[in-house]
Amino acid sequence: AAKETRAGLRAYDETADVNTPQRLARIADLRAAIDRRDLMVAFQPKVDPATGAVVGAEALARWHHPADGMVPPDEFIPLAEHSGLIRPLTLHMLEVALRSRAAWARTGHDLHVAVNLSPNGLLDVTLPEVVERLLAQTGSAPASLTLEITESSIMADPSGSLATLERLHALGVKLSIDDFGTGYSSLGRLRRLPIHEVKIDRSFVQRLTHDHRDRAVVRSAVQLGHALGLEVVAEGVEDAGALELLAREGCDLVQGYFVSRPLAPDAFTEWLTGQPV
Ligand code: C2E
Ligand code: CA
Ligand code: CA
Ligand code: CA
Repeated sequence: AAKETRAGLRAYDETADVNTPQRLARIADLRAAIDRRDLMVAFQPKVDPATGAVVGAEALARWHHPADGMVPPDEFIPLAEHSGLIRPLTLHMLEVALRSRAAWARTGHDLHVAVNLSPNGLLDVTLPEVVERLLAQTGSAPASLTLEITESSIMADPSGSLATLERLHALGVKLSIDDFGTGYSSLGRLRRLPIHEVKIDRSFVQRLTHDHRDRAVVRSAVQLGHALGLEVVAEGVEDAGALELLAREGCDLVQGYFVSRPLAPDAFTEWLTGQPV
C-alpha cells in the first residue's frame, strides 16, 4: 500500500526496495523531470539488413540529472515502476515518439516508431484509450506504432496482460516481444499472443560471429518467428560480421551500435537526412 510521507512523496512500504532518503530524493527529481518534460528521448534506427533501408526507430528514455549527470534507464525505469511514475513517463515517451515520427514523415521518411512498455504497463486498463487518443492527436496510423513488451512481463500476468494486448491489437497497433529468448515463454502461448514481431535479445547477438551456439540460437529464433508468421528483429548488432550473418539467416530487421547508437532527436533527424528516402 502507498502512504503519504511528510514530504508529500508516495512511499511504498510493501516493496522489497527500501525507501532511503536518497531514493526518495531521486524519485522526487524524476517526478520533476517528467513534469517539466526534461526527460529526453533517444532514437535508435531499425534497418533492413538486406537492403540497408531504415524502416523504423526505437524510442529510449534518457535522463540527465541536474547534479549527477546521465542516469541509466536500468536505474530510473525500475524507480519509476515502483513509485507510480511509470505511467506519466510512458505517456511522455509515446507523445514525443509519435510527434517525432510525424515530423520525419513530413521529410519523406515514413518510419514506424517503437516505444517500450514496462511490465506494469500492461496492467493499466486505460492504456488502450490513451494510445488511441495520442494516435488521433498526432495524426498517426495505428500501424506506425510498435509497443515493445518483454517476454517476462507477459509471463508474469498472462490473463490480465492478454486482455490489454488484445485491445491494443484491435486498435491496429503492432506488438513486439522484447528480449526474446530470455523469458522461457512456452511456444503454445507465443503462438496465441496477438503479436507482430519478436526481438532477439542482444545477449545472443553480440557474440554471434565468435560463438557457434549463439548462432544456432539466432538461427532457430529466426526460423521459429517466421514459422509463426512474425517479423524477426535482432538487437545488439555491434559488427559487420553479425550484420552479414543476420542478413544471411533472413532476419528482417537489425538494430545496434554498428548501424547507429541511440541518437538525440536532432542528431537522429540529421542521420536520417543522409539516408535514401
Ligand atoms: P531494451 O528495450 O532492450 O533497449 C535496448 C538497449 O540496448 C538500450 O539500452 C540500447 O541503448 C542498447 N543497445 C542498442 N544497441 C546496442 C548494441 O549494439 N550493443 C549494446 N551492448 N547495447 C545496445 P538503454 O537505452 O540503456 O535501455 C536499457 C533498457 O531500459 C531498455 O532495454 C528498456 O528495457 C529500458 N527502457 C529504456 N527506455 C525505456 C522507456 O521509455 N520505457 C520503459 N518501460 N523502459 C525503457
Ligand atoms: Ca526495447
Ligand atoms: Ca531488448
Ligand atoms: Ca524480410
